[in-house]
Amino acid sequence: MPKLVFHAKNPEYIPANIPDIVTALQNIGFIGGKWQSPKSVPGERYLIGDSFLSLVTFLGCAPAIELEPIAEKPESTEFCHIEIEAVKASVEFICGSKHLISRCPHCRQRHANWKTLPETLLYSCDKCKVESHLSEYDWKNTAGCGHFFISLHGIYPQEAIPTSHLLQALQKITETKWTYFYIQQFV
Ligand SMILES: [Zn+2]
Repeated sequence: MPKLVFHAKNPEYIPANIPDIVTALQNIGFIGGKWQSPKSVPGERYLIGDSFLSLVTFLGCAPAIELEPIAEKPESTEFCHIEIEAVKASVEFICGSKHLISRCPHCRQRHANWKTLPETLLYSCDKCKVESHLSEYDWKNTAGCGHFFISLHGIYPQEAIPTSHLLQALQKITETKWTYFYIQQFV
């Protein structure tokens, strides 16, 4: 299933209190009530909130997006809902696409040929030789890294983009800047 994943720009960010974040996101109407999902669907998942469609911009003329659980397929996760993911013990780099695109933060040269990613998440640019953390690269919404991710399920790459208002709200709630990327499929 495709998804749009939000994370703090600072990969070291760890939320102080997840329930407070959930409440704040409910207050702005991004997320709604908890999805009473079947046991086969793990994780902490929420339905979309009342203001969801004003916080996320759908592109294209008539996207066929399911906004509610699919009654005939109660175990299906193929509808728009939000998952608050568990905090990861270490910083993880998540590839959203087989075709990663990025720019070196130092020389701004484009890197598209990522065959292996360094386990240390430190990379010496082969063009300018400056070593940077992968979180400093501009991944053009194809990848991201951090401890904590909020996933919006059911969104294909570039099908919808978060409004700046939503990203600002996340920043205000968590006191750190946020960005996002798309996961095309589970890799
Ligand atoms: Zn460089």
